[in-house]
Amino acid sequence: MKSDREKYFPELDEETYEKYEKRAEGWQFRCMKCGHRAHFGKYGVRKHAMSVEKRVLGWCKRCRWVRCLKVDRFK
Ligand SMILES: [Zn+2]
Repeated sequence: MKSDREKYFPELDEETYEKYEKRAEGWQFRCMKCGHRAHFGKYGVRKHAMSVEKRVLGWCKRCRWVRCLKVDRFK
């Protein structure tokens, strides 16, 4: 069986993924333009209590531009 990391963020190593998960378990940013995903824990802390989806402006690595990013759950 695949681990969550292999399933959702295969580009991260185990240690990094665990670190991000501790900060914001299950949360991701998703670019509304190209669909590129990044783990929320890379940029900040988000707790379970904050369960509402929202949109923020942020830098998309793939677009190389400031995009509207959706914050939602990936698992
Ligand atoms: Zn993008």
